[in-house]
Order: sequence, then structure tokens, then C-alpha cells
Amino acid sequence: MPNYSKKSLKGNVMTVCGPINPKDLGRVICHEHLLIDFRVVLNEPPNKKDIHYMKEKINLSNIGWIRTYWNSNEDNLLLEDINDSIEEMADFRLNGGHSLVEVTPLGPTRLENQHKKLKLISEKTGINIIMGTGFYVDNSLPDYFNAKSVEELASIIIEDILKGNNGVHSGIIGEVGCSFPLTENEKKSLKSAILAQKETGSAILIHPGRHESSPSEIIDFIQSEDGELSRTIIGHIERTLYDYNNLELLAKTGVYLNFDQLGIESSYYPLNPKKYMPSDHQKLEFIKAISDAGFNNKILLGHDIYSKNRLKKYGGHGYSHAFESLLDRMETIGMSKEKINDIITINPQKILTFE
Ligand SMILES: [Zn+2]
Repeated sequence: MPNYSKKSLKGNVMTVCGPINPKDLGRVICHEHLLIDFRVVLNEPPNKKDIHYMKEKINLSNIGWIRTYWNSNEDNLLLEDINDSIEEMADFRLNGGHSLVEVTPLGPTRLENQHKKLKLISEKTGINIIMGTGFYVDNSLPDYFNAKSVEELASIIIEDILKGNNGVHSGIIGEVGCSFPLTENEKKSLKSAILAQKETGSAILIHPGRHESSPSEIIDFIQSEDGELSRTIIGHIERTLYDYNNLELLAKTGVYLNFDQLGIESSYYPLNPKKYMPSDHQKLEFIKAISDAGFNNKILLGHDIYSKNRLKKYGGHGYSHAFESLLDRMETIGMSKEKINDIITINPQKILTFE
């Protein structure tokens, strides 16, 4: 079992099958979940008459409802069949995908032996999988979290990266879960992530709170802890920032911007019903605007798939959606092939390479 050091990892990308040359990443999608137990967000539907949907198995007669109320059906929130993942990754490959960042955090959202299963999926499909580590939002932390100090939590993350688990190593810290405002536990988790970043040279990928002020709160915190903004990815841009000026302010801090809600075309957003999920077209317009403003080198893409309804097997758009449909649409609205190619190859190379 190889053990790595910060020095030996420098210049490499760590996949579940071991370190690779960043140039071998090919086309990369930067925020996904292949295997996840996302029942931590299960909630009753807003309308009591719909309660019967909660326990139904996903099928053609309820998929239309589930697409809107995706967190009110238990079966929908569980991605545990590795054969489904293998089929989806074969399709990803057919559509020109080569690498994928899997950021299911430590704790209750992970399946048993998740790391071994991800390695198997990678071996069976040839897709490079960069696995995350670190801790999610306050309500979905591992049992041991409270009893451990920041330093102890950091060593768990560091071990995941340098030492690995049965020969499978994490290659990124994330998704690190944040609410707005940050809770004490989330500050502890962020601190441990920043410490681990210093010890490993890894990037950090952040799940911000659902509030326009959340990214700036997180950035202030990272700066106060002496973290590196240029090695930080702020995810879920689409459901966090609705005002272009705020997006530009965020870009100016030097973080990477992950447009990772691609493919969701239901405007009702159950986790924040007072706001909405923009359409793919609106997301692409934001991407183009921030690219035109000089920040093309900070843009990353993802679908953040965490439910069955978004898999192709269940009538969803699948992990290939960006490659299958959106890159052409980016060109149609006026982005150059070169810029688009940078977004899916060069930018991921830069951020995923250990420093
Ligand atoms: Zn996610």
C-alpha cells in the first residue's frame, strides 16, 4: 500500500486508482455523486395529499412528480447500485467524458465500502474518479465528529489523502458543507479542511449555504484561517447567486466557480422554495457573462447528481448531459470552442493538481 507525502504528490492528480499526470485527465466534470445516501434531505411534500409518494418506488407513473419534489421520495435519494453507476459511466465515456470528481463527504451520506466501490467503477469503465473527503453540513456529520478536535478531524482528512484506505486515496477535500450563517460545527469542519489543505496541497471544494451572502462569509473565514482562495472551489453557484454583480465580486476573490447544477430544469427548488433553480439557459448565460468578464480560467462544470430521477436509467439527463448537449449550446450563445475546451480540460487540471 503506497503512502504519499505532500512532496511526492506535488504535480499529480490523485484518482481512486492512484496518482496520474494532470494531462491525462482529458475532459472532466467537477462535482458528482455516483454512490450516495442522500436521505439526509428527505422531507414531507409541501402538499399533504401527496404524502403517499414518499414511500413509493420510483416508476414511470410518479417520475413526473418526483422530478419536481425530488427530496420527498425516499427511494429517489438513494444511489447504491454500482451496476447503475457503471452503465452511466460507460455512457459518459461514449459522450467524450474521461474524468469525474466524486465529492460524497465522510459520514452518513456514504455507503459502506464506498471507496472500494468507486475504485471498481473506475476499473470497469476506465473513467478516472477523483474522490472527495471531509465533512458535510451540520445535520449530516459522522458520529465521531463532536468528540474530535479540529486537529484530529484534519488528520482524518490527511490520512484519507496520503495514506488512503485499502489502497484507495482521496484526491480533493470536499464537498465541505456550509450553511448560512456558518454553524460552530461547520467552522470546525472548515478549519480542519484548511489545515489538511496545508499538509497535502489539495484543493478544497465548498458547498455554500443557500443565501447570497454565504460565499462571502466563507471567503472571509478562509482568509482569517490563512487558507488559499486560489485553491478553493465554490460550488452550487446557480442556486446561491442570482445577481450577476455578486458573481463577479466572488470571481474577483480568485476562487473557482463551479456551475454544478447543470441539467436541473425544474424551477421549483424544494430546499429553498422562496428562491428558484435557474434553467440551463439561464445558467449558460451566467457562465458566458463571467467568462466574457475575464474569468474563463475559473469556471468549472458539474451536474451534482444525487438522486435516481437524474440518471438516464430513470429518464434523467445523466452525467453526460454537459458533453451531450450543453457544450454545443455554449457555442450557440457565442462562446469560443477554445474557451469551452479550457473549462472542461485546463481549469480542472489546474485545480485538481496537488501543489
Ligand atoms: Zn454535491
